[in-house]
Parts: sequence; structure tokens; C-alpha cells
Amino acid sequence: MKQLLTGADVIATQDDTRREIADGAVFVDGGWIAAIGSCAEVEAWMAQDPAARMPDRRHDLRGCVLTPGLVNGHHHLYQTLTRTIGTGGGLALFDWLKTLYPIWGRMDPDAVYLSAKLGLAELLLSGATTVADHLYMFQNGARLDDEIVAARELGVRFHPTRGSMSVGESQGGLPPDALVEAEDHILADSLRVIEQFHDPAPGSMLRIGLAPCSPFSVSAALMRESAAMARSHAQVRLHTHLAETADETRYCLDRFGLRPIDYAESLGWLGDDVWFAHVVHPDSTGIDKLAHSCSGVCHCPSSNMILASGIAPVREMIERGVRVGLGVDGSASNDGNHMLGEARQAMLLQRVGWPGFESRADRMSAREALKLATRGGASILGRDDIGSLEVGKAADMVAFRVDGIQHAGAQSDPVAALMTCSPAAAWLSIINGRVVVENGEIPGLDLRNLVRRHNQSSRRLLAAH
Ligand SMILES: [Zn+2]
Repeated sequence: MKQLLTGADVIATQDDTRREIADGAVFVDGGWIAAIGSCAEVEAWMAQDPAARMPDRRHDLRGCVLTPGLVNGHHHLYQTLTRTIGTGGGLALFDWLKTLYPIWGRMDPDAVYLSAKLGLAELLLSGATTVADHLYMFQNGARLDDEIVAARELGVRFHPTRGSMSVGESQGGLPPDALVEAEDHILADSLRVIEQFHDPAPGSMLRIGLAPCSPFSVSAALMRESAAMARSHAQVRLHTHLAETADETRYCLDRFGLRPIDYAESLGWLGDDVWFAHVVHPDSTGIDKLAHSCSGVCHCPSSNMILASGIAPVREMIERGVRVGLGVDGSASNDGNHMLGEARQAMLLQRVGWPGFESRADRMSAREALKLATRGGASILGRDDIGSLEVGKAADMVAFRVDGIQHAGAQSDPVAALMTCSPAAAWLSIINGRVVVENGEIPGLDLRNLVRRHNQSSRRLLAAH
């Protein structure tokens, strides 16, 4: 199908020159961008070959800013089932995890499916088009397959990671023994999902990653073997939590005699095929190691605030050459799935000072925050086919209305207003050429019924607690 989007107040392309196009238009052919420019430029392009460039469908974007689809680089979709538990009262990471592990351990395949469907729907409505998820508990028959079904139904470009926990409390890890898996089973199932679902091709709608959960829940051997397996397949990337809290740094120093990034290095876990969630507490040497190895970092500002993990030195990491993207993190440590809102949080949090670091309003601009949520996310997922709006890139784009009450008076710079004003919802979203949000709603989805079923599933988990 050919689609023509016209009349956008501004298109923030996020191309190499960060071109912004007033009165912008995009011509989408199938799953790819065939033309982009001002309305006049795209009309002239269509006139060169009118028969072949006749759109089947038109979208009027007057009153909208069009951006590349936002890329969520780190999530645990299953946590939508347990929002507010621990975060409302205020627990830090380790205590929060220990409170929630037993509840999460009761999830079944239906709970994984419903939470993924709900979390992904919420993300779509906030502008996300590509989502990386980290599922690391597989009790009661739950499988990675259960969330893949949900992503396919919604048409989300999906990077599910096969997570794992193998070191329980009795072995010095944090999770209860009942929630860890045998390492040979983890590796066998990792290979199964790669062979069954992974698509390394350009334009891929699904790529598998391997993601041992954290230094305090898996063994060094599993980290090494997961890396070897990932690297024996094209475009299978590695992901884990790293340097999230001061507690984790102490744990790594006590148990391994190394800080978290040094520990990752010792396992062969630095490289351009690795991205880490958080990295709130890198030391200077660690930042250099991340930069020189081209490892990626997924910044999760809301989670870092709500769990009191700290403020990641994002500006410093970027300036020293680290690739940084953005993630909402699990929806029980946020407790939202709002991707545009998360970019706003990143901008706000970087401006705040902390001991030894002065507050600075120019530490992150609105446009830099948008870049983190688009190009930055594409980079850490190893995708050069998404993250910007250019001819030949995948047709993933989102239009936000800027003519409503929350942007009134902000017409002087509607792109910056996406970050400085209250976060908008997606008005139109297209992924791989498919309309997934239209007039602010997901076509064909009975959202009310989904919320009802999701909450029933949530109550069942909590009732058994
Ligand atoms: Zn996480």
C-alpha cells in the first residue's frame, strides 16, 4: 500500500543534519519511506511518475509534529501486573525486587500475554514503535512466545530478550531459589527462540536478544555462554542490567573483586553488540571502556528516580562517545509506559545537580532528549533502518498533535514543546507501513476489555500472595 502524509506543521527527521521540515510530507511505499520533504517537494516528486506514485491512502497532519517512531530500549512488560507495589511507599531496588519476586513467580502464560499486550498498547499510544523487552521469569509454563504473540497482534517492531536467572539465594544471589532456572535449560530455550523467531534481515519486525538478568542473579559461566551463543548468530545482541545501584557495585566488589563494568569486561561482555540498562554508577574508567568498546547504554530516568538508584551521568557518557538510548524500564518501577514522557524525564533529570555536580539547564536540550528516544534507541539496538525519517528507512513514524490545550502558546517551537509541555499522546502512528494508531486510538483493539482482563490477571497474582 502507498500512503501520503501531508501538511505536518514540522517533521523532525532526526537525519544526520537533524533537518526539520515545515509543512512536511512523507510518501510511504509498503514498509519503507519513498520520499520526504516539504509538501511542494513531495508533490513534485509524485508528479514525476503519477501512475506509480498514486497514494492509496492519505493522512492529513495539519496541527501535528511528525517524528520517527520512538524506540524503547529497556522494559519488563510483565510488570504492568504489579504497578505501585513497593514504589508507592518507596523501596530501593534490592528490597523492591525481594518484595515482588514471589508475586511475579505466579505468572502463567496468559499473564505474560495480557501484560505484554497492555504494556505495548500503552507504549504505542505514547509514540513508541520499537520495543525491547526483557523477560527473565518463566514459571508455570510461561515462555517468551507469549509476549511475541501480543507484539505481533499489535504490529509493534519487537526486540524481545530471552532473560534468565540462575543463581538463587542459597548460592548468594538475590532471587528465591524457586524462581531460578537450570543453566542448560536456559541455553537450550535461548537457542530455541533464536531459531524459531529471530529475523536478522533489514526491516526485521522481530529480533531476539539474550539477557542474563544481572550480576546478582546469574553466574559468570552463563554470561559467557550466552555471549558465545549470541555471537554465533547474526544480529543477536546481548543485554543485561548493569551498574544500576550503589548496592550492586558493593555486591560486585564483594563477590567478584571488580566494579560492574570491569566485571562485564572480564566476561567478554563489552562490545557493539551489547547494550546495558541503567549504568547509573559508572566510574571514569568504566565510561572509557563503554565508549572504546562501542557498548550501548539504555538510560531509564523514571525508574532511577522512583527506586532512588541515582542520576546517570548521561551528558558525560555522550560527550565521551558512549551510545545512549532511552527506556521506560519495567512498568512496576516507573510506573508508566509513556515513551514521550520518558524523554521528558531524561531532559529534566539531567538538568538537576547532585553532590559534586552543579545544576545546569543546558545539560540536556529538548531536541537532545528526542534524539535519545529515536536515533539513540535505534543505535543501541543495532538498527540502521529505524530512528530517523529518510528515504530508504523503515516507515516507522508518529504524529503528535500540537494544536490542543497542552501546547497552546507553544507554536514558536513545536518540536521543543513535545518535551517542555505535558507529554502528548500519539495521534497517528505507523510501523512498517501499517497504521497502528489512528485518531489517538488503536484500530481493532477493545482497550476496555483488555484492561479488564489484565486487571483480573493482576488480582489473581496478588490474591494468592
Ligand atoms: Zn530493568
